[in-house]
Amino acid sequence: MKAVVDKDACIGCGLCTSICPEVFSMDDDGLAVAIDEELGEDVIDSAKEAADSCPTEAITVE
Ligand code: SF4
Repeated sequence: MKAVVDKDACIGCGLCTSICPEVFSMDDDGLAVAIDEELGEDVIDSAKEAADSCPTEAITVE
């Protein structure tokens, strides 16, 4: 399972980085980026919570 941020949809609010900093961070453009690796069992729930909380539904976790 991986997390992906659609940069065209992200508005840079930073919410995902607050909810799940293990997976999401802000890049130099001020938009979110997800780690490019398989999510560990310990972070999947919080990554999904971040996806559910994103105001623009920019995050996919699958
Ligand atoms: S919560 Fe959504 S809109 Fe906000 S920074 Fe994360 S991906 Fe972007």
